[in-house]
Amino acid sequence: MELRTHPDDAFSELMPLMREAVVAAGIENAEGFVLLDGGDYEDESFLLDEFRDYAFYWSPSKPKDRIPPHVASLMNDPRCTNLIWLSRRALAEEDIHLVWILAHEARHLSQARQSISTDGVRRHIQGLRRKLKFMNLPGSTLAPLEVDSDLFALQVASRMFGQPAIRDFFARRNLPRCPDSRYLSFMEELEGAMRDAGQ
Ligand SMILES: [Zn+2]
Repeated sequence: MELRTHPDDAFSELMPLMREAVVAAGIENAEGFVLLDGGDYEDESFLLDEFRDYAFYWSPSKPKDRIPPHVASLMNDPRCTNLIWLSRRALAEEDIHLVWILAHEARHLSQARQSISTDGVRRHIQGLRRKLKFMNLPGSTLAPLEVDSDLFALQVASRMFGQPAIRDFFARRNLPRCPDSRYLSFMEELEGAMRDAGQ
C-alpha cells in the first residue's frame, strides 16, 4: 500500500514507523492507500461519523458521500481498492498505539479480502465470557471481527515493541476501543485458548 498524507508532505517524522508497521501487518503488497490525515473534523457534523473516529478501513463497495474532498478524490482513484484512513488523533498517539490502530485496520482489510472466518474467535469469546472475571466486560466492544482485529494488532505490536512494552501500555492506560482494564488479559487468554485449539 502506498502511504499518502494530508496535507502533502506532512508527518514525515512518522513515515519510517508507518512503513515498518505496514510491512509488519503484511499489507505492503495490498493495492490501495494508507492516508495519514491531518484534518480536524471534530465539529464537521455533516461528515460521516467515521471521521470522528481514530481510523477506518474503506473499500469501493462502501459509501463515499459526506466525505472531505481530498479523501473523495483518493477514493475515486482507480487504484484505491483499499483505503486505511488514520485520523490526526491517531497520528498524535504514542507509537505503540498508532501501530496498534494501523494493524487493527489492516486486519479489517484482510477480513474483507481473504474472507477470514471468525467462527473460532466467536466461540472462544463466548467461552471466556462465561468466566466470572470476564462476565461483565462490555459486550458491545467484543464483536468477533473487532476482537479478531485486536488480536492481530496485539501480535503486530508485540513483534515491533516487545511484550513488556505492551504490558506497560495497558498498565498505564486502556485501549480506547475497549476501555476496560481486563481487556489485555482477556485477549491473552483468548490467544492461548485459540492456540490450544489449533486455530
Ligand atoms: Zn475495527
